[in-house]
Amino acid sequence: MQLILLGLPGAGKGTQAQVIAQQHRLLHISTGDMFREAVAAGTELGKQADSFMSRGDLVPDEVTIGMLLERVARPDAEVGFMLDGFPRTIAQAEALDVALQGQPIDAVLFIEVPESDLMARLTGRWTCSECGAIYHELNSPPRAAGQCDDCDSKLTQRDDDRPETVQARLDVNREWTEALAVYYGDAGKLTRIDGTGESSAVTDRLLVALADVPVASGKA
Ligand code: AMP
Repeated sequence: MQLILLGLPGAGKGTQAQVIAQQHRLLHISTGDMFREAVAAGTELGKQADSFMSRGDLVPDEVTIGMLLERVARPDAEVGFMLDGFPRTIAQAEALDVALQGQPIDAVLFIEVPESDLMARLTGRWTCSECGAIYHELNSPPRAAGQCDDCDSKLTQRDDDRPETVQARLDVNREWTEALAVYYGDAGKLTRIDGTGESSAVTDRLLVALADVPVASGKA
């Protein structure tokens, strides 16, 4: 199968992509991971992507599309793949459609989580200013609010995790995610998945949805 996973930050896309790809023996392709690896390795691609990524902007389509199409054309993608983080623009979706002519995308799974839950997930992380220990209000809170269990120091919130920063990130991502949901909805490929509750429950919903997908790519 050739699948795309859509979802706002905090929806659990990366985690679910890994689990589903493993269960269905698909190649998990995350463009975010590919860019991070390229930056770490100091390649030409990494140099091109670095400044956009550090500003939180999208890497230009010319760079991103070329990288992704080269990846899905490699032999290890012949078993099928699950895309995570691509496409993020309509131009990327169209370029993918053109490249996959004859073996189209089988399904686009859109993991939906109410925005209040996403805010709670994304703003709940607190870090110890001294020892770096990480806590989360929802699933690993400190014993005393605002204080590290290990060294009693004050817990602080990273800039990335502050409500105003998270809200801005959600706003930007909502715009392109919804545009892509319309694009794939019009193509009859979109399935909406309830992303609330335990991660394992979301995995089960995704697996049930996948069992109903007609395979057009020829990669069952
Ligand atoms: P992610 O881990 O998916 O959030 O991606 C991290 C960063 O990589 C993003 O903030 C973008 O700068 C870049 N990136 C990943 N995928 C894409 C894409 N499909 N189009 C443009 N930029 C991307």
